[in-house]
Amino acid sequence: MTNDDIASILELTVKLMDLHEENPFKSKSYASAAYRIEKLATPLEGKSLAELQALPELGKTTASVVDEILRTGTWSTLQELLTKTPKGILEMMRIKGLGPKKVKSIWTQLNIETPGELLYAIQEQRLSTLKGFGEKTQADLEKAITFFLAHQGKFHYAEGEEILTELLPLLNDLFPGLAITAYGHTRRKTDVLEKISIAGIGSMQVPIGNFSAYPTLVIEQCDDKGWTGSIADKYKIEYKPIAAEVFYKELWLSSSSEEHQQDIKLDKTFTNEAEIYSYNNIAFHPTECREFKTKWDESYINGLVQDKDIRGVIHNHSTYSDGKNTVEEMAMACKKAGYEYLVMSDHSQTAAYAGGMGMDKVFSQFKTIDQWNAKHPDFRIYKSVESDILTDGSLDYTDEELSAFDLIIVSVHAGLKMDEATAMQRLIRAIEHPSTRILGHMTGRLLLSRPGYPIDHKKIIDACAANKVAIEINASPYRLDIDWRWLQYAQEKGVWISINPDAHSIDGIQDIHWGVISGRKGGLLKSNTLNALDLNDFEDWRKNFKK
Ligand SMILES: [Zn+2]
Ligand SMILES: [Zn+2]
Repeated sequence: MTNDDIASILELTVKLMDLHEENPFKSKSYASAAYRIEKLATPLEGKSLAELQALPELGKTTASVVDEILRTGTWSTLQELLTKTPKGILEMMRIKGLGPKKVKSIWTQLNIETPGELLYAIQEQRLSTLKGFGEKTQADLEKAITFFLAHQGKFHYAEGEEILTELLPLLNDLFPGLAITAYGHTRRKTDVLEKISIAGIGSMQVPIGNFSAYPTLVIEQCDDKGWTGSIADKYKIEYKPIAAEVFYKELWLSSSSEEHQQDIKLDKTFTNEAEIYSYNNIAFHPTECREFKTKWDESYINGLVQDKDIRGVIHNHSTYSDGKNTVEEMAMACKKAGYEYLVMSDHSQTAAYAGGMGMDKVFSQFKTIDQWNAKHPDFRIYKSVESDILTDGSLDYTDEELSAFDLIIVSVHAGLKMDEATAMQRLIRAIEHPSTRILGHMTGRLLLSRPGYPIDHKKIIDACAANKVAIEINASPYRLDIDWRWLQYAQEKGVWISINPDAHSIDGIQDIHWGVISGRKGGLLKSNTLNALDLNDFEDWRKNFKK
C-alpha cells in the first residue's frame, strides 16, 4: 500500500464525515493528515506502530489510524461511514464539481441517490429549487455527469500494463503451451481501457472464485468460451480462447484499427504476427503502432523513439513546490538511471496552491542546483520553471526574472473553463513570449476525469513551429497531452517533441515510459524527440535560440 493509497482512504473518510456532518474538527485534522502523508518521501508500508508514532509528521492518533489501515486495508471510522452511505451517493461524490455539501442537499432535499437520477433531474429543471445550483452550475454539472457516466469502469492503460507484467508470466507458467498474451485494446495499448483482455491458444479451465496464484484476481465465470473476472474489485479482465489456425490473425485483427486493416490480405494461416506483414510486403508494426492506414517502412519503424533513447528528464517538481523529493534526490535518481540531465521546473508563484515559487525561493533553488552541478560534472541540472500561463496569456514573472532561468516551460493550471477563442488567444500569446521554450500539457485534459479546453491543434502547432517552441507529451498516464493523433502534423512542421514525466517524485520519473508509448503510437521519431538529445546537443538547442 503506497502513501497515496493511505491518503486517499483518509480523504474519503473526510468527505464522508462532511457529508454526514460529523465533527468538523476531526475531519479537518484527518484532511491535514492526508495532506502530510501525501507529501512524505518515505513509504509508510512495513513500519511498525512504534515507528509510525516516532514520525513527527504523523502524531500519535494519526499513527494508530495509519497502522490500522496498513494492517487491514481500511479503518473502522471509514467502514461505519460507508455502511450508512448508498453506493450511488459515493459515485456522485466522484463527479467534478460535487462536494459533500452539494451532494447532501441533493440527497436529502430531492431524494436523489445516483448520478443517473441526478442527470435526469437536471434535465427536468428540478435542481433550480435548490440553493447553490444556478443555471451555470447546472450546465457544468450536466456535462460532468455525462462525462462520468461515459467513463465509468474505465481505467488508464498504465494500470493494465502493470498488472499484465506480473500476471502474464505467471499464467504462462501455470498453463504452458497456450501462449497467453494481451489481446484487443490492451494489446494495442489504447490510453484508456474498459477491461484487461488476454487470449491464448485453446481453453483455460480455472475455478470460480479467488485465483490462488494471484489472489486479487477473482474468476466470475468460466466455460469453453473463456473466462471473465475482476482484479482488486476494480479492473474487469477476460480470457479469450482462440483456435491455433487463426490465433495470430485474431491477435492482429484485435490490435489493429479498421484503417490499419485496410488492404491487408489474411488468406492463409500465420505462425506469428510478423508473418502477416511479410506476406503483405510491409514492415512489421509493433502492437502500439497499428493505428493509421498508411504503413511505415522498416527504417521509419526502426527510427521510432524508444525508452532507451531518452537521455534527459524534462519537467519535474521538487520540494521547492509540490514535489515529494528534494532537487538532489531527483537528480541522484536520474543519474543512477543513466540519464544525463534533469530539467527542474517547479511551479511559478501564481500557483500558490502548489507551493509556487517567489523569486527568493527561486534563487535559493538556483544555489542548490549550482552546488550540485559543481560536484557532478558528468550530470547537469537545468534551472527551469513551469510558469503559469495567466488568464491573459502573459507569464508569471517579469521578463528580467524569466531570463535568469536556463529555460522556461509554460502551462495552464487555472481558469480551464474557456471557449476556443479565449484558449487560443491565451496560448498563442504565451507561445510568442520571447522566453518560452516548451509548451506543457497543451489542452489540460485529464483522461477519465476532464476533457481539455477546446483548441485548434493545427494553429497551436503552427505557432510553436514559428516561435521555435517545443511541445510536451506530458507522459503522466492521466494526461498524455498532446494527444498522439497530432504528432505527425507536429513533426511535419519541424516542431521538437519532448517526452516529459512531470514527475512529482522519484517514482514519477518512470512515467516517461507511457509517454514513449504515446509517441510511438503517433509515429514520433527519435530524431524529433527533444530529450533524446544527449547533453551536448540539448545544450546547443538551449543556447542557440532567438525568436
Ligand atoms: Zn503542470
Ligand atoms: Zn508540472
